[in-house]
Amino acid sequence: EIGGDHVDVSPLMGPGVDPHLYQAGAGAVSKLQDSDIVAHHGLHLEGKMGDIFRSLDKQGHRSICLEDGLDPLSLLSDENNPEVHDPHVWFDVSIWKQAANHVAVQLALYDPENAADYQENLDSYLMELDALETYIHDRVSEIPEDQRVLITAHDAFRYFGRAYGIEVRGLQGISTDAEASTSAVSDLATLIATKKIRAIFIESSVPIKNVEALQDATKARGFDVEIGGELYSDALGDPSSDAGTYIGMVRANVDTIVNSLKGEK
Ligand code: ZN
Repeated sequence: EIGGDHVDVSPLMGPGVDPHLYQAGAGAVSKLQDSDIVAHHGLHLEGKMGDIFRSLDKQGHRSICLEDGLDPLSLLSDENNPEVHDPHVWFDVSIWKQAANHVAVQLALYDPENAADYQENLDSYLMELDALETYIHDRVSEIPEDQRVLITAHDAFRYFGRAYGIEVRGLQGISTDAEASTSAVSDLATLIATKKIRAIFIESSVPIKNVEALQDATKARGFDVEIGGELYSDALGDPSSDAGTYIGMVRANVDTIVNSLKGEK
């Protein structure tokens, strides 16, 4: 979106890949070394790639780390580990605008000749992101207030909840690198049955089994909760689908969430 015709983007992690667990093999490492610029997220999202990024930095490889462009005051901490920031910032579009801005600044630094183009691309992308924010607010307002609870496989949606007024609960913490505890399942099942929450959600990059266990536990408490559909949490959809872009992915999530919690699925 920002680099436009001046860059060839070659992603390492495709649709449905979990970045918390992704390990770069030899092919991926040489792809990184052969690149002109490595762009990555930071905030420990790519939990197993820290050493690779550090060694590329040491070699003086050019990089863009989105974390560096974010206002620390806009970040959420891990509830269980206050030193660690929650990496899932892309679900608050206002923070993703900071990230987009950082990409434009860094590209202009590495390629000053085309700085004006990067700025122009940024400006038009920011307008699209404005429209996306309006869309999210409008759609979320359609959910009855007592149904504004989003329950998912892992805690990827806390920024989304904070920005758009939805209570968010995950079965696992902010990384998928841990099992859901039985007490988390039982607490959430009680919450769902008590509040009669219509739907819970699976994620494209996380196995379904924990969410199914939660559904069963809720049933045992006398309430049938639906699986409201699949959300894109930590990966885009297939490039040929609408969810293959950031904006399309967010819209797809919002539509799945809103339609299920309204009971119009
Ligand atoms: Zn995640």
